Amino acid sequence: MSDDPIDLSAARRPKKAAGCPICGRAPVMDFRPFCSKRCSDVDLSRWLGEVYRVPVEDAPGEDEPG
Ligand SMILES: [Zn+2]
Repeated sequence: MSDDPIDLSAARRPKKAAGCPICGRAPVMDFRPFCSKRCSDVDLSRWLGEVYRVPVEDAPGEDEPG
């Protein structure tokens, strides 16, 4: 049996602080998790773009029989 010491420090890596999801820079308190309002707006516009994009579907019309 080997008696290799287990490096616990490797397993206990400090939680890496997440940077700005847009550009990866350090986030600013006022715009967390973004680094600036600009990046915040970029993310917001993307998000809204998805929301406002209404899928066009051919809904079955209410065809009256006869
Ligand atoms: Zn940024």
